Amino acid sequence: MEYIIKNGFVYCPLNNVDGEKMDICVRDGKIVESVSDSAKVIDASGKIVMPGGVDPHSHIAGAKVNVGRMYRPEDSRRDAEKFKAGRAGSGFSVPSTFMTGYRYAQMGYTTAMEAAMPPLLARHTHEEFHDTPIIDHAAYPLFGNNWFVMEYLKEGDVDACAAYASWLLNATKGYAIKIVNPAGTEAWGWGGNVHGIYDPAPYFDITPAEIIKGLAEVNEKLQLPHSIHLHCNDLGHPGNYETTLASFDVPKNIKANPATGERDTVLYATHVQFHSYGGTTWRDFVSEAPKIADYVNKNDHIVIDVGQITLDETTTMTADGPMEYDLHSLNGLKWANCDVELETGSGVVPFIYSARAPVPAVQWAIGMELFLLIDDPGKVCLTTDSPNAGPFTRYPRVIAWLMSNKYRMNLIEGELHKWAQRKSTIATVDREYTFSEIAQITRSTSAKVLGLSETKGHLGVGADADIAVYNINPETVDPSVDYMAIEEGFSRAAYVLKDGEIVVKDGEVVASPHGRTYWVDTQVDESIYSEVLANVESKFKQYYSVNFANYPVQDDYLPKSAPVKGVML
Ligand SMILES: [Zn+2]
Repeated sequence: MEYIIKNGFVYCPLNNVDGEKMDICVRDGKIVESVSDSAKVIDASGKIVMPGGVDPHSHIAGAKVNVGRMYRPEDSRRDAEKFKAGRAGSGFSVPSTFMTGYRYAQMGYTTAMEAAMPPLLARHTHEEFHDTPIIDHAAYPLFGNNWFVMEYLKEGDVDACAAYASWLLNATKGYAIKIVNPAGTEAWGWGGNVHGIYDPAPYFDITPAEIIKGLAEVNEKLQLPHSIHLHCNDLGHPGNYETTLASFDVPKNIKANPATGERDTVLYATHVQFHSYGGTTWRDFVSEAPKIADYVNKNDHIVIDVGQITLDETTTMTADGPMEYDLHSLNGLKWANCDVELETGSGVVPFIYSARAPVPAVQWAIGMELFLLIDDPGKVCLTTDSPNAGPFTRYPRVIAWLMSNKYRMNLIEGELHKWAQRKSTIATVDREYTFSEIAQITRSTSAKVLGLSETKGHLGVGADADIAVYNINPETVDPSVDYMAIEEGFSRAAYVLKDGEIVVKDGEVVASPHGRTYWVDTQVDESIYSEVLANVESKFKQYYSVNFANYPVQDDYLPKSAPVKGVML
C-alpha cells in the first residue's frame, strides 16, 4: 500500500525540517523517497504533520496498573466509551488495555513505554501488551532493589551483575534497566526507607549511590540502546532536590558505550518534577526547579522527563513502596501495597491534585518551570508519569500550556492557589514553546534517548511510517492566543498512520493492528553467564515461589517481537 501525504506543514526536528510545506511518501510501512501515481493521496493542506509521538515513560500494562483499575471502580465509571474500532473501554486515569491503545493513537502517539515491570510479573505485563492495540511498546524491568543486583554490586562484581542483567532482560523480554528508589523499596520490606544516596539497604549494606553507579556500568557494558532509567530516592519529600542533584552526579563520569551509536547520555532521570522540592516540611516547601534546570543545562550526560501535574483526580502507582505509604498517610485514601519476593515492591493510592490546594499548585508550577527553564528541548521529554501526575490523555493540555503564556497566566491568576506564585518563579517565565520544540519533547528527544531514532521520532526515508496529521494551521493559528485550538488539535488527530496503515481518521480509531514489542537481546561471556545462572538457579530453589524453568516469558507471548541487539565487550 502506498500513500502520499500532500502539502502539510512538516515538523521533523531530527531532519531539521521546521514547518516547511512538504509531501511525505509511504510504501509498505516505511517512509520512502517517492511513490507511484497509484498512491492514495492524504490531503494535509493547512495541517501539521509530525512523526508519531513516542512516550518514554508511562504506566500502561502489568500488575500494578491492573490493581489501579480493579480497586477504583469510581475511576472506570467516570469515563467510558464505545469505540468505532470495535471495543468499548473505561477508566479516566487508568484506562483499560484496548482504550489505552486507542487513546494514544487518537492523540497521534504510536509508541509508549511501560516504565516499571516487576520481573516476576513480566508475563502479566506482556499479556496486557497483547491486548493494547496499535502502539509499539516495551517494558523496563525493575533492577534497583533486586537481591542478585545488590549482592553482585556489593561484591564489586560488575561483570557478574551484567550477566545477570542480560539474563533477566532476556527472561522478561525487557528493554531497559529501571531503578526505582534504589535500596529504599528493599528497606520497605522491613517497614523502612532510605534517605539520601548514602543510606544503605538493610542486610545488603549497599547504598543507593553504589547501586546507581554499578547499574550504569552494567548498562554500558551491555551496550543497551537506552541509558539507565532512574526514579531517584526521596520522591515527593520537601528538600529532596539535594538528593536529586547528588544522584545526577553519580554516573557523570561513566562514558556511554560508543557502540550504542546515537545515544550520548548515561542517565535518564524520570518525573523530575517530584524530585525538585526545597524546604524542610510541606509548610516551608518551595520550588527548586531552577537549580535542577540549571544542572541539566550545564551537563550533557543527562536527559530528563518532567512528570507534569495536570490538576486532576488520578491514581498513583509506583514500585516506590514506602512513598505510597507516605502518600496514603497524607491523604487518608485507600492504599494497595505489594512485596514482590526478591525483586521489588509497589503501592497504589488515589490522589486529587486540586488547583485550589497549595501543594498541587506548586507542583504544577515546578513541572512548568522545568520545561521552560531547561534551554534545550533535546534534554527534556513530555510526560505526566501517567497516571501518577495525571493521565496521558492530558498531553494536549500540557502542550497548550507550554505554547501559551496567556493560558498559564489565566490559570495562575485564576483558580490556581497563590502558593504557585509565591513559592516558584513560574509567573515570571514567559517562554513559549514552538511547534518544532513540541515535536522534540514528544517525539525526537524520546526516540533518540531510547536508542530508537533510526526508525522512530522522525519522517526521513527509512523511518517507520508512524505519522500524525493535526488539524492545526500554523499560518492562521497563533498558539499564544488560540491555545484551545492547540489543545483540541493535539487531542484528536486528523490522520494517524501506524506502519503505513491509517489507524485514526478525523479523531476516530478506524483500525487496530498489533504493535511491536521491543526488547533487548544481549550476549555475555559464556563462562561468567553459566556461573551466574547456576547461582540464580540455586537461589530460585531456596527463595522464589516459582520454579526457575517457569520464570522466563516464552516467545509466543510476543506476537510482534522486535529484539534490539546489544553485545558485551
Ligand atoms: Zn513512573
